[in-house]
Amino acid sequence: VGAGSAPHYLPLASASVLVFVAYYLGAKLGLALTFEPHPISVLWPPNAILLAALLVAPLRWWPLLIVAALPAHLLAELQGGVPAAMVVCWFLSNVSEALIGAGFMRAVIRGRPDLDSLRNVAAFVGAAVLAAFLSSFLDSAFVRLVGWGTADYWELWRSRFSSNVLATLTVAPVIVTWASGSFASLQVFTPTRLAEAAVLVLGLLVAGALVFAVPVVGSGALPALLYLPVPFLLWASLRFGAAGTSAAFMLVALLAIWGAGHGRGPFADGAPVENAQAVQVFLTFVGLMVLVLAAVVQERRNSEERAKEANERLAHISRLAVVGELTASIAHEINQPLGAILNNADAAEILLRSEDPHLDELRNIIDDIRKDDMRAGEVIRHMRSLLRRRELSVQPFDLNSAVEDVLHLVGADLSRHSVTVETVLTPLPIVHGDQIHIQQVVLNLVMNGVDAMKGVPPSRRRLEVVTAHAEDWGIEITVSDTGSGIPAGQMERLFQSFFTTKPDGMGLGLAIARSIVEAHGGSIRAENRRAGGACFRVCLPVRNRKEGWRGARTFARGRRT
Ligand code: ADP
Repeated sequence: VGAGSAPHYLPLASASVLVFVAYYLGAKLGLALTFEPHPISVLWPPNAILLAALLVAPLRWWPLLIVAALPAHLLAELQGGVPAAMVVCWFLSNVSEALIGAGFMRAVIRGRPDLDSLRNVAAFVGAAVLAAFLSSFLDSAFVRLVGWGTADYWELWRSRFSSNVLATLTVAPVIVTWASGSFASLQVFTPTRLAEAAVLVLGLLVAGALVFAVPVVGSGALPALLYLPVPFLLWASLRFGAAGTSAAFMLVALLAIWGAGHGRGPFADGAPVENAQAVQVFLTFVGLMVLVLAAVVQERRNSEERAKEANERLAHISRLAVVGELTASIAHEINQPLGAILNNADAAEILLRSEDPHLDELRNIIDDIRKDDMRAGEVIRHMRSLLRRRELSVQPFDLNSAVEDVLHLVGADLSRHSVTVETVLTPLPIVHGDQIHIQQVVLNLVMNGVDAMKGVPPSRRRLEVVTAHAEDWGIEITVSDTGSGIPAGQMERLFQSFFTTKPDGMGLGLAIARSIVEAHGGSIRAENRRAGGACFRVCLPVRNRKEGWRGARTFARGRRT
């Protein structure tokens, strides 16, 4: 919050209120999930809530957030008829747990505590275990000291430890991921994603209710049914990141514990203590598994995203390089119409000086000026569209006019090198893809062809650009030249990054071209022509899947090899 806008204490105040409310509701929930006559709940959320709040808040907020939890703690516990001394002691051990957990996380990971990498999840699980482990000694000592309940020290320690580990695994990830806004990155607010999320939630509810809450599917016959919610949890972790996964897991955990506490489902067979332990062990392992899976999936998604960005930057740089080579020709291309415009303006001026200027002729001159101006404008427009750096965008476009645009841009360069161009552009269906990237591929192939023909006599320099229907799966563009051809040993290496035989070559053109084509679901091949020279053939499917780019994976693979 910048100076002069909202008061700077407002976020802290609202965070404190949130902690108060969440801690209170968490305590209520924990009490509701207590197995009688067990004095300790199966899942005790308040500590996890406080821990999560400390995790997402800046260090200087910690004291106030802890203070904000105190009235909530008192309010919830004193209603339950617990002695005041016990209530205060529990607050101390709860705070110690939150401080140990959050402090450990902060020491181990730098930056935000997002659960989107294996490292962060490992640190988080470590924090959950360590905090519950250490603070449970204190907690059990307090309970024995005050003399509350009849359980012995180790029994207390064991059940508090497992209930608090489970609570941290269940509740804290939801708060951490949702508070850090990582849910926004899931782009869940499109109709199809919303529908998918709705089906997932429904599936989770039905599976969870069937297994854990419906008395019909009682205990005993259930070992297989127990895993009914697992596919939905896996679905969440594959598709909805840590935020979606943690929310899905919390739903299942609450259903399972509630069911067990009410004598339903697979965890209601034994004595309460055994039931509590069984449900805790089951949930802890499932929770760990899905959190780790979500992190791994997210990590991979992030690195694909980074690779994609890097590749787009690289593609852009190589476009800059190619167009850079063209500058002399492009300047010529623009100078020509400019010169014609000047000549026409001079002619008009002479006409105007005459007694009776020929208006029709003047009109023709103005018409010519307009046409030349548009010609120059076109060249600049083509160049700019190639040079712009922008997000990849998949759109329908006409391949033939895209190819024509490229040939127009390189036209002057081709004639400077005395290259004759033959084009055969077959009428084709609309292609879905990134037009600029496909143009970049064509541009690279054309420029390579020109380079390859430098050694042959000017009269034999011929470039053929053909678009055609390809067998069953789409369309193809071939660019063939009458140049040196490709030496036998080099055919394999053409598309490798940094393979070049040119003194000033970068060796990236074909590697990037292949990445682009493969990302469009197509393929690119090179062959030597019988009559001499090389032929590059690009096949593209007519209709790509909507996202068009099959992502950075293909792009990255193209680059590495
Ligand atoms: P660069 O053009 O910077 O060398 P490319 O990846 O575009 O990088 O090309 C790699 C190599 O492939 C070139 O150096 C050249 O040896 C070979 N090559 C590409 N196109 C042709 C062609 N049309 N004819 C012969 N060799 C070619």
